[in-house]
Amino acid sequence: MIMQGWTGFFLKVDLTRSQASAEPYSEDLALNFLGGRGFAIKILWDTLKQGTNPLSPENKLIFATGPLTGIGLPNSGKLVIASKSPLTGGYGDGNSGSWAAVNLRKAGYDALVIEGKASKPVTLHIKDRTWEFLDASDLWGKSTFEVDDQFRKKYSKLAGILSIGPAGENLVKFATVVSQKGRSGGRPGMGAVMGSKNLKAIVVEGTQPIPLAYPNEMKRLAIDGYKELLTKPVYQFWKRQGTMSTVEWCQENSCLPTFNYKQGVFDKAEGISGFTMEKMKVSNRGCPQCNMTCGNVVKDSEGQDSELDYENVVMLGSNIGLGNLAQVATLNRLADEFSFDAISLGSVIGFAMEASEKGLISEKIGWGDFEAIKVLINNIAYRRGFGAVLADGVRAASAAIDKGSSEWAMHVKGLEVSAYDCHIAPGMALAYGTSSIGAHHKDAWIITWEQKAGREKYDEAKVDHLIKTQLLRGGIFEALTVCRFPQGSLGFELEWYHKYLRASTGKNFSMEQLNQIGDRILNLIRAFWIREYGDRWNRDLDVPPMRWFKEPLTDGPLKGAVLDIEKYNSMLDIYYQKRGWDKNGVPKKETLDGLGLSDVTSQLKLS
Ligand code: SF4
Repeated sequence: MIMQGWTGFFLKVDLTRSQASAEPYSEDLALNFLGGRGFAIKILWDTLKQGTNPLSPENKLIFATGPLTGIGLPNSGKLVIASKSPLTGGYGDGNSGSWAAVNLRKAGYDALVIEGKASKPVTLHIKDRTWEFLDASDLWGKSTFEVDDQFRKKYSKLAGILSIGPAGENLVKFATVVSQKGRSGGRPGMGAVMGSKNLKAIVVEGTQPIPLAYPNEMKRLAIDGYKELLTKPVYQFWKRQGTMSTVEWCQENSCLPTFNYKQGVFDKAEGISGFTMEKMKVSNRGCPQCNMTCGNVVKDSEGQDSELDYENVVMLGSNIGLGNLAQVATLNRLADEFSFDAISLGSVIGFAMEASEKGLISEKIGWGDFEAIKVLINNIAYRRGFGAVLADGVRAASAAIDKGSSEWAMHVKGLEVSAYDCHIAPGMALAYGTSSIGAHHKDAWIITWEQKAGREKYDEAKVDHLIKTQLLRGGIFEALTVCRFPQGSLGFELEWYHKYLRASTGKNFSMEQLNQIGDRILNLIRAFWIREYGDRWNRDLDVPPMRWFKEPLTDGPLKGAVLDIEKYNSMLDIYYQKRGWDKNGVPKKETLDGLGLSDVTSQLKLS
């Protein structure tokens, strides 16, 4: 089969046997799942045996791109990193902007599917249709920055380099895969899965053209798209601050994660704000082929470069009581060097601080104690002392110390809550509750919309907006592996993506068709969770942490605000009904059949 837009091949790698093969896949798969997250969940659903241990050789680690990846379009240099998550036990993924995405496509593959376990540490080097497994024993123990430096000297300047640091090697369950010294992807432990396979790094070099239906039209559209972005009113401010302006917004609106999500406001917020960052900034960094580069590089307290964005700064800042941005930047750099997810790292540290404050653990660690935090980060990376408990994530840490801590262990389905306090944001709380990977904002960052729509409301309009956003961002964008910020933050029109898809694939996808693909992907992800959780599955898994329902905000203009559990559950009922799911959040047979997922019905034993 000859396709345009897709290369039509996956590179399948078996690390146990040191073998790899380029395997064609069907056009049906491309048309029904598009790429990225769509390919990843379909592969996991079809090939992973139920109950597979996420850290066993049998688990699959997938790096998947879409039909727009690597073409030289605005914000299209990303890939999705996916696997069964060791942190949550369900579907896990994250996207990352990396030259590996561009090179993988130019090497002739739409996805890299890795299974098995190497007998000793290896680096997988791919160059077009050749590959080799290099001994990485000398790299084991090194940081992702050191690996990047070493391979950057050895291979071409624009080679794609993905690696793990000690957190991934030591199977920290929220370890990520890092690229380009700051672009980190796969929050729910994709770095630990890579570590479990003894795979230290992947280097990809591609030199072939990507097959396009209308290459000349694509060239013109790409130039027009880049130019269009420059005309957007917030473009200049975005280039100055990227996502960092969210610090001020959250502080003004009482949703800044502070002291493990107790306050919503932070008395030192100015110290970690976007304007403070601007005074320290030395450069912008970003994903390949992006002209909105939103990574803000500053010099940290040790004089090293650190790439900042909103979530990392507040989770390693206000959430753990630290108001000095240079120090926050140091912690952020350590997270990238070790290959920690910075959001989850800030959450487990905040949890430990609260447990220490309450006298529930013998370790002493005070809010904002910079030196103690650095020690703790090392202990988590190397699984030493209480660090070993925290290395399994906040859900496991809470289960280990018990004593009522589950109510303030801030996670959904085991994934730590990302950086928005929802004491008075029921729509955003529902977004966390129903997200595809646990409590992450990527699929539906609706909190600024909700603020305008009326934060105190629990209504159908919020559910409608949430579902529409999830289908677009969690479904379509994640399958195309394009960045959500042009559309979400700058107002880049959806029409562009239709045009790009047509020029790439030669096919006209209507919005209705794309939404159906998004819905198919999200339903299959939900089915995967249910298959893996089995008897443990219940609707409470779609409810965010009890702190937001039981403990009112302790400070700020909205002091006293709290979520209402009954009203939340009513919204969840409406959400289920609109998704075509039953009262336990399980997709109904007719929903799955309507999406062409009839085979799922029998596996879930639905009638
Ligand atoms: S806007 Fe930021 S996250 Fe999006 S592609 Fe550009 S650099 Fe990457």
